[in-house]
Amino acid sequence: MANEDLLKKIIAHAKEYGFVFPSSELYDGLAAVYDYGQNGVELKRNIVDYWWKSMVQYHENIVGIDTAIFMHPTIWKASGHVDAFNDPMIDNKDSKKRYRADVLVEEHMAKIEDKVQKEVEKAAARFGDSFDEAMYRTTNPRVMGYLQQIEEIRGRLYPAMEANDLEGIKALIEELGITCPLSGSKNWTEVRQFNLMFSTQMGSTAEGANTIYLRPETAQGIFVNYLNVQKTGRMKLPFGIAQVGKAFRNEIVARQFIFRMREFEQMEMQYFIQPGTEREWFEYWKQQRIQWHKGLGIPEENYRFHDHEKLAHYANAATDIEFRFPMGFKELEGIHSRTDFDLGAHQEFSGKKIAYFDPDTNESYVPYVIETSIGLDRTFLAVLSHAYAEEQLEDGSERVVLRIPPFLAPYKVAVLPLTKKDGLPEKGREIMDRLKRQFMCYYEEKDTIGKRYRRQDAIGTPYCITIDHQTLQDNTVTLRERDTMTQERVPVEAIAGKIAAKL
Ligand code: ATP
Repeated sequence: MANEDLLKKIIAHAKEYGFVFPSSELYDGLAAVYDYGQNGVELKRNIVDYWWKSMVQYHENIVGIDTAIFMHPTIWKASGHVDAFNDPMIDNKDSKKRYRADVLVEEHMAKIEDKVQKEVEKAAARFGDSFDEAMYRTTNPRVMGYLQQIEEIRGRLYPAMEANDLEGIKALIEELGITCPLSGSKNWTEVRQFNLMFSTQMGSTAEGANTIYLRPETAQGIFVNYLNVQKTGRMKLPFGIAQVGKAFRNEIVARQFIFRMREFEQMEMQYFIQPGTEREWFEYWKQQRIQWHKGLGIPEENYRFHDHEKLAHYANAATDIEFRFPMGFKELEGIHSRTDFDLGAHQEFSGKKIAYFDPDTNESYVPYVIETSIGLDRTFLAVLSHAYAEEQLEDGSERVVLRIPPFLAPYKVAVLPLTKKDGLPEKGREIMDRLKRQFMCYYEEKDTIGKRYRRQDAIGTPYCITIDHQTLQDNTVTLRERDTMTQERVPVEAIAGKIAAKL
């Protein structure tokens, strides 16, 4: 299936089956804002749960907090967001569409990379088993030419971004002949900086009002509570603070469904360490995080690390975990070595000492920080897009199934009496009552059993239980498994154990 098609299908499926709705749909929607429906909210909670457990429950030295979205405005001055949380934007005068200038150039590079990939695939088909891709990439003149083009563009884009050289970025767009995907024209405005923070007023009178920001990341809530948590929790370095919460960014290009939203959710953990140990902890968290992703049941080849060439103002090392989304490899999580940038800045701007007294060395210092920051919505999209499958069945019919790992599935089991009479619903209710305290259960009597199975497949329910006349005689039910569609007869008492074993 073409990738564009896959994304479209996922968006349609997510809406039809109550996972994700466009926000304010009654009023024709609000750009890049989405609501989670009855099934989406369960999947989302299960992802958060998995993250929270792996951070807070499994690490004795990591604790969680939940800080306010509104914070003192000086925090964003200290963090650098007021001055530096910008993206370069450019408008096409014909289509009136706005783009991120750096993204236009990156997409141009991705097109060249696609050409390389096509050459590699052609050659692989031609040479068969003896094909050596690394050798081919370094010897084939055409491929080498493409790779050199990419290197040259890179060598200009990132230094220009670093130096805030907006004219340089504009010149690059012109030289590369980049056209607007909508109008096809090269009629561009100048490149300008655009701050991504949303602001609002706090206070009841215009004179007394203060401009405050909706937080663009949850991390700063952790930094400004570092002392509170360290003291009250009597935490010893190294230790971490985790938080899950909303963040807001006025994204210039808000496309691609829940991949880039203006209101989204982050799961962030700041790990406070002794200065000088950051390399080691950076590596440790890279490994920990990739393991966590593998636990989502998605094969490893769908992930890759992308080390940053352009480091953010706060980092001395940074990598992204990228995921193969339907629209290609894109950032899913960031891992950053932030040094003492944030705590140091808050110390300076607040005038209050933020130091750690190390009882082992009898020294006082500002801790360094390794951050892991993952988008909840992007993880949701990763899980959904990997799980989505269209299958041709043996009897010639088709089904759409979400192969979500059972522990993340919105419902674990559906309880389905075969008919609405002969005491089967009563028996169904009895089984439902037994199971619902332990698992999210779905009860349904309407429609043929085949249709009901399809609906459960479409929302990813790993098990269906069918109650039939035999159930009334021997207290056994049919347990149907989602992926294999196999059915087995099991005693009612054994159901909970079977399901729990899968989770
Ligand atoms: P990008 O380069 O894609 O804009 P970023 O590097 O600005 O992302 P970070 O500031 O590192 O992102 O934020 C950490 C994580 O938060 C990202 O890896 C991503 O999963 C998530 N995230 C960031 N911006 C958005 C957004 N607009 N919508 C959904 N998730 C987001």
